[in-house]
Amino acid sequence: MKEIGLYIHVPFCRGKCAYCDFVSYPYSPEAAERYLKALEREIRLWSEWFGPKLVLKTVYVGGGTPTCLPPEALARLMSVPRAGFTMLPDAEVAVEANPGTLDEEKLAVLAAAGVNRLSIGMQGTADRLLRVLGRAHTAGEARQAFKAARAAGFTNINLDLIYGIPGQSAGDWTETLAEAAALGPEHVSAYSLEIHSETPLGQAAAAGEVAVCSEETVREMYLKAIDFLTASGYVHYEIANFALPGRESRHNRLYWEGGEYLGLGPGAHSYLDGHRWANTANPGEYCATVARGELPVAEAVRLTPADAMAEAMFLGLRLTAGVSAARFQARFGCSPEAVYGPAIARLAAQGLLIEEDGYIRLTRDALPVANVVFAAFV
Ligand code: SF4
Repeated sequence: MKEIGLYIHVPFCRGKCAYCDFVSYPYSPEAAERYLKALEREIRLWSEWFGPKLVLKTVYVGGGTPTCLPPEALARLMSVPRAGFTMLPDAEVAVEANPGTLDEEKLAVLAAAGVNRLSIGMQGTADRLLRVLGRAHTAGEARQAFKAARAAGFTNINLDLIYGIPGQSAGDWTETLAEAAALGPEHVSAYSLEIHSETPLGQAAAAGEVAVCSEETVREMYLKAIDFLTASGYVHYEIANFALPGRESRHNRLYWEGGEYLGLGPGAHSYLDGHRWANTANPGEYCATVARGELPVAEAVRLTPADAMAEAMFLGLRLTAGVSAARFQARFGCSPEAVYGPAIARLAAQGLLIEEDGYIRLTRDALPVANVVFAAFV
């Protein structure tokens, strides 16, 4: 028996946000029907492939916007995990939801399906900045979604927030943090906006039509999030994630700790039995491949021991607790020092890594430039 996480990608949204480079398309009932049929086939294919050896300890339904599906389709979606695998009775079952797509009926469907964690894409609390992002909802709708989720009995809610939005001031960001925290979510994710050149926002930035935040402003906003949220009682447990004690995302933790997971749906990634693979991201191709009874895998690699060790370092360092030297030793039969001694010493001398109590972790100075540290292990 192997306990794994299951990720399901729902590739639909109400519209396309100006910064979005995810696998997401406008929702239509016909496309959703084709997708659900394919998803139901895909889980059967995987369940035949792996047999009864896999048990689900976490389920994460993300996207896209899973809650843009109507209630009946949402119920069908949520029945997919159990159609293929056994789920542990205390499994974390999380669903991403966007404001403007959640109502009482859908919340009841999610609760009845055993969903015990909701992640709401609030992103901001100023309508003017939500418009820059091209979000299909207002700040009021985000607050309403949170309150409706609470009223429906959800006791484990994450709010996603974005900083570094063109035109956002330090004061705007402090206000967003305060307003989000005042709602009392169990978890907050604070992401720095990534502006991709091929997106409408990327093109507007290249044309000078929006005032992009400077690196220094973005760094200060990030440090503000850490200081504000930790002072508000949240534990800063991962680069971008904050939780009340005991409310960390179990599914995401599994990624950072090198746990195994199966991904379903277009563009979903998997890591199992020493292999990483990605499903085809094209929804038409995904549906057609699965309809032929074939697994929709577009690319797969077998990790070498060196790959697996590098991943253990750069994923593990995302956690503020850091990489446990004992755990690394137990997994690979050698210490991080034996493999990465010179890199660790150099980064420690630069004030970016610290070794303490059997853990190697990022310093506060390293948090805003974590990618520089990760590059040393690749
Ligand atoms: S809600 Fe998320 S996935 Fe959907 S368009 Fe916006 S950024 Fe993309």
